Amino acid sequence: MKLSELLHEQELGDWRRTHYSKEILPTLNDKQITVMGWVSSTRSHGNIQFVIIRDRLGEIQVTAKRGECSDKVLDQLSHIKDHTTLGVRGKVRAQTKSPNGIEVIPNEVRIFSLAKQAAPFNIQANKSTVGIDTRLDLRAIDLRRNFLRSAFGIRHTTLSSIREFLDAKGFIEVSTPKMIATATEGGAALFPIFYYNKEAYLAQSPQLYKEQLTMAFENVYEIGPIFRAEPSRTKRHLSEATSIDVEQAFSDYSDLMNLLESMILHIINSINDRHRDDLQSMHGTLPKIKTPFPRYRYDEIIDKLQARGEHIRWGDDINPQIMKGLSNEVFNSDTFYYIVDWPTAIKPFYVKPTSRSDRFCESFDLMFGSLEISSGSTRINRKEFLLGNMKKQGLNTELFDYHLRVFDYGVPPHAGFGVGLERLMMVLLNIENIRDATFYPRDIDRLTP
Ligand code: ATP
Ligand code: MG
Repeated sequence: MKLSELLHEQELGDWRRTHYSKEILPTLNDKQITVMGWVSSTRSHGNIQFVIIRDRLGEIQVTAKRGECSDKVLDQLSHIKDHTTLGVRGKVRAQTKSPNGIEVIPNEVRIFSLAKQAAPFNIQANKSTVGIDTRLDLRAIDLRRNFLRSAFGIRHTTLSSIREFLDAKGFIEVSTPKMIATATEGGAALFPIFYYNKEAYLAQSPQLYKEQLTMAFENVYEIGPIFRAEPSRTKRHLSEATSIDVEQAFSDYSDLMNLLESMILHIINSINDRHRDDLQSMHGTLPKIKTPFPRYRYDEIIDKLQARGEHIRWGDDINPQIMKGLSNEVFNSDTFYYIVDWPTAIKPFYVKPTSRSDRFCESFDLMFGSLEISSGSTRINRKEFLLGNMKKQGLNTELFDYHLRVFDYGVPPHAGFGVGLERLMMVLLNIENIRDATFYPRDIDRLTP
């Protein structure tokens, strides 16, 4: 038979999978089954050909031996490359030497889609040897890497455990516009878009909308994209990130810090419960945490930094480079902690000053080592204060009329935070570059795939 006939691609037709790899147990010995997936590796020993097929749940070994299966099937399996997608019908046989104690003796193979060439990188290793850009150019294949498949399974659990946690506390999930007329925070980092005949922007945060929604629903959250035209190339910024935004009425920033740390505890417990195998194969352990997380005042941190000889003045933002030394020394590197009571001047206009002094505001950043994971605060709920702050920060208040007008109708005291999902994944799974914590990263150099 010619190679082209042998490796002829076929339709799915009436074939359906009877079992996932993981469901094929020694109890199925001698049973006929159909498995489907993609080839993760092949190995040849003369008259015997091993093919490992991977599916959503794991791997199964197919063993084609001359005499035990047809020559056609043996030839087919001998010529396919890694990543080929196929179905195999055959008989289950207990096999102590195979990875999960079982193998499939094939009697028919249906090739759905042939891998035409070898992938430009090997997906077996946990850490890849090629640069991240080579991997991102073929991201769908890169995502077949075990480490990343586990990481994104854990991302899914992170999201579902957040929803469980907040739902149980009486929050409702909301969705707010991503095409907006004015900047939320007056920052410059926005993407302009054409909106019919007008200029509009992609939302950098659901901030003002989630605050408004506390008027009707009290406790709301949104898990959605935020868009920021970050000018610099860093391993912690994306142009399109996922934000977990929470807003709660009749509470202040200290309630929200309590809520956030219990939410993180719940996430970590859920991952430990549901992903034992993944964590093992990733050689990873989640951060061990104790609540409450330590809370350091901005003032204290500045003093500590100055004492170490860092060039930082009161009123400066605290960047990761500067924090690195301190977090290693003082916080024993990788732990969660809060920096609270920031200078009012470097936080957005909607953040409420402390009752002690206008110079400080009721705000927090959740940190892990030197990386910022979340920012939160008590918000201003009175119109005249909000207006005053906007003017102080040089914002054009007319542009915020759509927001300010609701403050004439009773806005509850409220507080909230936004957590960057990808940043959280970085610290949970020790991912070095934020681009690996999202499926298809967007950054200043990358708009495809
Ligand atoms: P940074 O100072 O690290 O740039 P930020 O203070 O500008 O962050 P916030 O506006 O406080 O960010 O947003 C809340 C959270 O959203 C951040 O703590 C971070 O986890 C996440 N986040 C913000 N911008 C990005 C981005 N460009 N890429 C990934 N995550 C982001
Ligand atoms: Mg912040």
